[in-house]
Amino acid sequence: MNQKIRIETDVLVVGGGTAGCVAALSAARENVRVVIVESESALGGVATRAGIHRYYYGSPGGLQEEIDRETAEMARLLGGRTMGFHPEAKKIVLARLCREAGIQALLDCTVHRVLLEGDEVAGVEAWGEGGGVTIRAAVTIDATANGNVVHMAGGKMRYGREQDGAYHNYSLVPRRLRDGLIGYDNLDAGWVDPYDPKDVTRAFLKGREWIWQAYEEGLHYYAISSSLGYREGALIDGEKLLTIQDYVEDTAMPDVIARSYSHLDNHGFDTGNESEFSQLWISILGLFVKGLWCDIPYGSLLPKKLKRVLVACRALSVDRDVSMGVRMQKDMHKVGEAAGLAAALSVQSRMLPAELPVHELQQRLVERGVLEAGDLGRTGSRNLAFRHGALAGVHMPPQQAGAYVKELIAYFGSDEQWKAVWLLAKRAEPELSIGQLKLVLEESSTARKLCAALVLTLLGRREQETFLLELLQKRDQTRWNDHPKCLPFWVAALILLRMMKSPAAVQEALKLLDEGSSAVESVFVLTYLKESADQLTEADRRTIAQAVTRWASRPELGDDYRMHGGRSESLRWSLELHAAEVLARCGEADREACEAWLSRYEGDARGYAHQAAAALRRRLQEGEAKLPHRADVQLGDFDAAVIGGGIAGVVCAAALSRRGCRVLLAEDSAGLLTEVTRCRMTRWPAGMESGAGEVGAEAELLIACLSRLGALRNGEVEPVLAQLAVDRFLQEAGVTLLLEARCLGFGRRLPDGRQIVTFAMRNCQAKASVQTLVDCTPEAVLFRQETESGIRPADAGQGTSVSVMTATLVNWKAAPEQRQQLQLDSGGGPVSVRIRPSLYEGEVYLDVSAGIGGEEDPGLLAAVLTRLRQEGVMPEEAALAYIADRPWCLPAFAVEATTRGAATISFGDGTMVGAGLWTSAVYDRLQRAEMWERDVLAARQQLEAGEEAARVVLSAAQGNA
Ligand SMILES: Cc1cc2nc3c(=O)[nH]c(=O)nc-3n(C[C@H](O)[C@H](O)[C@H](O)COP(=O)(O)OP(=O)(O)OC[C@H]3O[C@@H](n4cnc5c(N)ncnc54)[C@H](O)[C@@H]3O)c2cc1C
Repeated sequence: MNQKIRIETDVLVVGGGTAGCVAALSAARENVRVVIVESESALGGVATRAGIHRYYYGSPGGLQEEIDRETAEMARLLGGRTMGFHPEAKKIVLARLCREAGIQALLDCTVHRVLLEGDEVAGVEAWGEGGGVTIRAAVTIDATANGNVVHMAGGKMRYGREQDGAYHNYSLVPRRLRDGLIGYDNLDAGWVDPYDPKDVTRAFLKGREWIWQAYEEGLHYYAISSSLGYREGALIDGEKLLTIQDYVEDTAMPDVIARSYSHLDNHGFDTGNESEFSQLWISILGLFVKGLWCDIPYGSLLPKKLKRVLVACRALSVDRDVSMGVRMQKDMHKVGEAAGLAAALSVQSRMLPAELPVHELQQRLVERGVLEAGDLGRTGSRNLAFRHGALAGVHMPPQQAGAYVKELIAYFGSDEQWKAVWLLAKRAEPELSIGQLKLVLEESSTARKLCAALVLTLLGRREQETFLLELLQKRDQTRWNDHPKCLPFWVAALILLRMMKSPAAVQEALKLLDEGSSAVESVFVLTYLKESADQLTEADRRTIAQAVTRWASRPELGDDYRMHGGRSESLRWSLELHAAEVLARCGEADREACEAWLSRYEGDARGYAHQAAAALRRRLQEGEAKLPHRADVQLGDFDAAVIGGGIAGVVCAAALSRRGCRVLLAEDSAGLLTEVTRCRMTRWPAGMESGAGEVGAEAELLIACLSRLGALRNGEVEPVLAQLAVDRFLQEAGVTLLLEARCLGFGRRLPDGRQIVTFAMRNCQAKASVQTLVDCTPEAVLFRQETESGIRPADAGQGTSVSVMTATLVNWKAAPEQRQQLQLDSGGGPVSVRIRPSLYEGEVYLDVSAGIGGEEDPGLLAAVLTRLRQEGVMPEEAALAYIADRPWCLPAFAVEATTRGAATISFGDGTMVGAGLWTSAVYDRLQRAEMWERDVLAARQQLEAGEEAARVVLSAAQGNA
């Protein structure tokens, strides 16, 4: 198992998420060999792992119809009603469909390196629970959402927004009952840089802090999503770029592979930091929710200069504005299906994906229902056709807009004005329209005049300046609709004056700062000042610099900013960086103040903030804010790296840290105290919370922390609260955390005896130098890699390898505990079932164990539920709300422990310490226990093992000293 595994396949899909699963199924059904590598422990991506189980916009057709049908069927077995579709049902269905299609799925396995042969992607290296895997494939599909394969292959990508490199706010979604439905809370949690591992860990902790607040308000959740809901990542530079013009005009693409339908769901409330298009579209025209259709071209799946790879996720080659629309789950399903088919066809025809005859691919997509026959060779635009007025029913390709200037102007002030504005600005001959637009400026309707001003601005004219200044001076509060992202006309005027490069509004802008504009408005004001500075006199620039410096010293700066969903997160970082840029543009004298802000944010712990400062530094030095590609990340020096954030790992890391060691705790998932939070091993020895002194000092501290925060009550641990509590416990102990990190083991030795340890992250490798490595992983991967000696395979026989899968069920008032043996119709051995109450009324845990070599398939749970319902054990109204992230397993081997719960080996000058269920001292005791008592026992053993490992590390360090 710890041998390096090699796999050859036809099609490799990296990322078993929204698009990836469909891509894999699509390819496998063409009879090619398919492997999926997914770093999470289940398939499904955002829907099943980031908690968003509801379709929003998107277009129908293709394989997704079958998946949805099967998911609805499975949901009936699981019981209850859900918001959208049942995420656990989808997880089970995807796993089953993939298995039936013969797909090899490697779960809990992270791709961390791309194998390149010249400009060809030949495969990848991945690291999973069993160790390293090398997979070579004829075609690789990058379905990682963030284009991680292309990023790691060094392909050209566009990272974040132009202003500051930031991405839209992420969510960390918890699941709960909402109005009787199994649902979730999707509230923005803050900014994160998905390509910075330290920032990803910070974002998880921050997201979980928000969840605390809900608990304090009396809510309780079944689970916190195991993935961050990254709303946005980088975009590839592909053979074809889908531009915002194509999008709005619904341009017919000769190589269309799917139609997308959505609104441009720009999540930033700080629209002033977004593109000029977004400012016009959302802030001025108020079109945030306007649904639009567009063609997705095959060329946008093909990264430039990289061969044998297709991108099937939302990292497609599209303008950043377009990416807000082309990303919904249904649309991603279709992109996945097209990519999977293309990959299979290219394997079968031995052609590169870029060489495939697109019309053949299109015909097959029509047969599969991904495309409709009418989507090919289409001439009309669905978006720009007028529904009312003189042009209703007129077939007018955008290029012919010039013939209809008068009719278009008649739409100003109506709900179809945006079409007229667009066509006049982008498609009509200016000579034909300017005269008539000027006449509109004489009319009485402010709304019509603003439309004309908008078009004139886009045409580079100045006749609208006086009108715009008036709107600004009056602080005209009219807006085109009530959506909170649609801003008053005075902001529209400021945007347009900036675009015109008119310095006429400088005095008004300064007044706005003094009046105390909101954070959102201030971004527009500062951007205006920045853009105007070079047209002003030296004296004016001094005045601006002084005013901005004064304004930025307000203690409450940026605190009124609200994210989607209403949580407040200060925008100060962005405002101060804008202020720094204003000062820089105002002249040399203000460089010092600018430098103070810049260097403060360059050292900021928040990845997105120091990235924004780096972007500004580059823009000031080089005129553009290109951010560097980061394939290697340095984590720093540590005395010990503890690998595995289970009970033993947490205790060991905290114990070492409190004794003065610099400790890095790396966990391959996002959940710490793994046995509780991911496996739902929630029963702990009764009385433990009273602190009876049965375990060591650090374990006592952990127990005290869990009890104090309400996570441990009457021998039962509440898994979500436990997660929140352990975050605080580790922070208080001073441990540095690295989540979603898989340790690849030792590398180079440094002159001082430390070793370089490498971690596989989802889009890079992270490196730390450490003295001692402590392996607290359930599989002892690292330990076993260093030595096979002393490893004792478990005896064959009943109970040697037990895996228990736990589900949370709601609407079920259970008696204290029930146990049962079931013989399922599907055959196999007996299945052991335990039903036990959770800490909450009407909620139970269902533990299912298939005995030796325990079946890990969550589909087993569905079969058990069906049987329990048939036997009348499970009430009709009961519903499955959540399946644990992973089963709780007793490993099938033991390692000789030198002390009570730890084993130690030396490597070079360093030491490796191992602790966990697999150390013989712990393992032997568990072997003797009755099956259902093992979880209680294991909790105690893990606490002790963690303590013991810390003691061994410390005594080794003393010995070395
Ligand atoms: C908070 C939030 C709310 C949303 N709301 C909605 C909504 O209501 N409805 C809607 O339709 N859409 C919604 N969307 C958009 C939509 O869900 C996503 O854009 C879409 O699911 C992305 O699909 P994908 O296949 O690109 O990525 P994902 O579904 O994220 O799949 C990517 C997969 O790749 C895996 N992966 C990444 N790197 C590696 C690696 N190195 N090795 C192995 N595996 C890897 C990940 O674990 C993941 O499973 C929302 C998105 C977010 C984040």
